[in-house]
Amino acid sequence: MSGSAFSDRADDERDAQAVLTVDLDALVANWRHLAARAAPAECGAAVKADAYGIGIEAAVPALARAGCLTFFVAHASEGRRARAALGAAGLGARIFVLNGFHPDAAGFDSYRAHGLDAVLGSAEELRAWSEARAAAGGGRLPDAALHVDTGMNRLGFPVEDARFLSQAELGSAGITLVMSHLVSAEDAADPINARQIAAFDHARERALRAYPASLANSSGIFLPARPFHDLVRPGFALYGGNPTPGRPNPMLPVATLRARVLQLRSVPAGATAGYNGRWTADRPSRLATIALGYADGVPIGGSGIDGRGAEVFVDGTACPLVGRISMDLSIADVTHLPAGALAAGDSVEWLGPHGDVDALAARCGTIGYEILVNLGRRHRRDYIGNGTGTA
Ligand SMILES: *Cc1c(COP(=O)(O)O)cnc(C)c1O
Repeated sequence: MSGSAFSDRADDERDAQAVLTVDLDALVANWRHLAARAAPAECGAAVKADAYGIGIEAAVPALARAGCLTFFVAHASEGRRARAALGAAGLGARIFVLNGFHPDAAGFDSYRAHGLDAVLGSAEELRAWSEARAAAGGGRLPDAALHVDTGMNRLGFPVEDARFLSQAELGSAGITLVMSHLVSAEDAADPINARQIAAFDHARERALRAYPASLANSSGIFLPARPFHDLVRPGFALYGGNPTPGRPNPMLPVATLRARVLQLRSVPAGATAGYNGRWTADRPSRLATIALGYADGVPIGGSGIDGRGAEVFVDGTACPLVGRISMDLSIADVTHLPAGALAAGDSVEWLGPHGDVDALAARCGTIGYEILVNLGRRHRRDYIGNGTGTA
């Protein structure tokens, strides 16, 4: 059983048509860069959605070895995976579950057993969490963050409600952190940043004053107002996304996705490519068929239609996609490459040092976050670097 499973995996790895390479040293370097910027505030890490698609089991231990002590996930199930990945070495690390506390069968007991802290975003959640803590009796109980809504209108206590929580209410919930989330931090000129910063201060004038606070996501770490408080919560920038759109990306790329060229063909002017013939060659063209489609996380919005669409890179040279992206395949126009520059079996870069995640997303009509979290599950994953950042 295990023998055949092993050989199947070996075959899968050998004939992989696309390879996702995750550079853990780059991940750690990005975390250190953000931590240095935000110091003396603590730097945590958002590792929700499988660490933005790069893999929670690899990302969490690498960040923990670098010194990260506070992790944020969206679901308790992700928290349990993060806790397992931390292992014995990460006993001191906190894992906050952002989506709130919604007691169900496993509910509080699972938070307790796996060392997960809740992020409480309403009076109902606060009450249910406090009652569960009280019912649990003694021993080590999980703590919680209080989420204040300063403008997102999504999760969190209204500012005026948060202001008037009592010390008894905060104490029985085990509150150790007060947090809010920025609406438009990537746009430093948006006046909502200042309004949220002021609202968060206002929320913390009374009972919440004594508690550690956290407001900034990745882009918040680059706001001139430096709203770092005690803890920052970067996600996207850790994984190579640009926290300062419109300015050079200060982060290192973490994920590189390369896929194989399956075939090359020459077509005459007037030939179409792909489903529904949505692209027509305006000259004799050389086309490369690439083993990468929307099932691999390539958004169909990146199709090469009407002069728009995404690109792949051959030794750094951009080659536009042509026609509609298929489930498992896409087609690139490689007419401009020198003869012999590309052969069947070679691999091309979709995402990576040339295929910048934000530029790529713009060409696909989406955002870099969505590109990362949709990285496919069927390509081979190679984790490189030891996550200690020494190289
Ligand atoms: C996702 C998330 C973050 C991280 O945001 P990035 O923009 O990816 O840095 C921080 N805080 C909360 C509440 C989040 O939901």
